[in-house]
Amino acid sequence: MSADTDTIFCYHCRTHHPKEEMRLLVTKTGKRWRCLKSIEATKQGKAAREAYGKQMTETNKAEARSKARLLNAHQ
Ligand SMILES: [Zn+2]
Repeated sequence: MSADTDTIFCYHCRTHHPKEEMRLLVTKTGKRWRCLKSIEATKQGKAAREAYGKQMTETNKAEARSKARLLNAHQ
């Protein structure tokens, strides 16, 4: 009938994408179609957040160490 049969409603974007760009995800609440772009964006966002968190932890550790050194120097 129409090209609509080749598109699937994307749960994430709330719009239709071509079938080839969609992946069926199984969640606690049921099956959800999401596009690869939104899945990749989520993955990258998570990885970026984790990398940032790790970096912050290292920075805090280094800061704590240098503070400890300063305190020791004063004693
Ligand atoms: Zn989408």
